[in-house]
Amino acid sequence: MNNDTYEIYRRQVFDFLWQEVEPLAAGIEQSGVFPRDELFPKFREHGLWGLLIPECYGGKGLTTKQYLPFLAEFSKVAGVVRVLLHVHNTSARAVASYGTEAQKEWLLPALAQGKSSLTFAITEPNSGSGMDVACQAVRDGSEWIVTGTKHYITNAGFADLHLVCCRTHEEPVVHHNRRALTALVIPAETADFTIEPMPRMMGNNGPHHGILHFDGARVPLDSIIGAEGDGLEVFLGELEPSRAFVAASSLGAAERALEIAIDFSKHRKTFSKTIAARPSIQSELAEMARDVYALKLILEDVAEKIDKAQDCALEASIAKLTGLETVMRVTDKALDVTGGRAYFTDYPYPLERIYREARINLAEEGTPSIQRLVMARALLEQPTPLAIGTLGDPYQPAGTNPALGMNSPADLAYAHDHKSKNRSK
Ligand SMILES: Cc1cc2nc3c(=O)[nH]c(=O)nc-3n(C[C@H](O)[C@H](O)[C@H](O)COP(=O)(O)OP(=O)(O)OC[C@H]3O[C@@H](n4cnc5c(N)ncnc54)[C@H](O)[C@@H]3O)c2cc1C
Repeated sequence: MNNDTYEIYRRQVFDFLWQEVEPLAAGIEQSGVFPRDELFPKFREHGLWGLLIPECYGGKGLTTKQYLPFLAEFSKVAGVVRVLLHVHNTSARAVASYGTEAQKEWLLPALAQGKSSLTFAITEPNSGSGMDVACQAVRDGSEWIVTGTKHYITNAGFADLHLVCCRTHEEPVVHHNRRALTALVIPAETADFTIEPMPRMMGNNGPHHGILHFDGARVPLDSIIGAEGDGLEVFLGELEPSRAFVAASSLGAAERALEIAIDFSKHRKTFSKTIAARPSIQSELAEMARDVYALKLILEDVAEKIDKAQDCALEASIAKLTGLETVMRVTDKALDVTGGRAYFTDYPYPLERIYREARINLAEEGTPSIQRLVMARALLEQPTPLAIGTLGDPYQPAGTNPALGMNSPADLAYAHDHKSKNRSK
């Protein structure tokens, strides 16, 4: 979408979000009921089901850089809307990236219209979210027979399709077999497939998270997205941009919390002065703004890398973790600035709701320890010189080493020998 059209579209959607969705947010959260009949057609009207689907399949075809501001704004107005549309759009992106032409023609136009919705189902109760997936799909003539359980699956309450990460390798769970997993599209109406609703959550209630039970459910062999054995690539490949998507949602929630803190501090008077005049409050606001701005800059960089199809596992995980830490710090500080009022629901700001909603970012697309694992692995695989902290193109003058400077590797060997000599004493 060109810049002028994008800017008009962005404003039109933001008007809709603040004028028509924001007033509903508190009620949705309290009731846990999403007004699908009212909002789903409006999402369609505004193109929100197809933000990442190419225009030729009826979507908006936004770049990552264009998409992130939408996620941030969804988060500012209603976490539940962000969660629901984030999962729908991420799953649609997986089909657009890895589906065959026939699958794209089958799925994308309906997904772009919100006539169909696809969940993204990896997590299992008795496995980690990765190569030890246990949900099994066994080939039987022209079908797969699927057996296993997925839980916490967002949008399970209304989606008609599920993108399910299955083990298609014949052997039992084999770690580090990168070709053992396959992505299958499984319709909700499939026999021997049931969905159990999950309990109420800390926040973002409404999109109906579910537990998917497959008890020998049969689907055609061509239900695969990508090829057999591509599952890890399809799911983990989508997790990389999706980490930036979650970080953008953290940015939106953090900025709303900052807005609330500033507004409150300008109005609340103690000892006949606004609290905004107090250096301790000013210091809190300054720290919050610093956090928000740093996250924004990280996201701009990551978005550019994703749009250029550059490998950015390290940067995407940095963004995800920084996003989480930012939104936790900023919402905590906003609670401090707003005093006792913050502890009450919508009194008058929705800070208590935003605080709870933002905590979902802990688990989404991997916990902090998983982000650190990904970051360390990616960092250790980087060529030297590192590009992560270099402004401009990395350049290392000939004859120098980015770690040792003008010293030679022999000096390092001496350091090792020296150490081992000491140890043997
Ligand atoms: C509201 C909500 C919605 C969700 N939606 C979806 C969805 O739509 N689709 C989907 O597939 N999943 C979904 N998830 C699941 C989410 O991705 C997982 O909760 C998250 O990846 C953590 O997995 P887990 O809950 O199994 O935690 P666990 O794996 O039990 O982790 C517990 C702790 O152990 C640590 N840990 C686990 N393994 C390791 C390891 N190898 N090394 C070091 N530390 C480790 C974790 O970091 C964490 O701190 C959702 C979760 C929530 C809460």
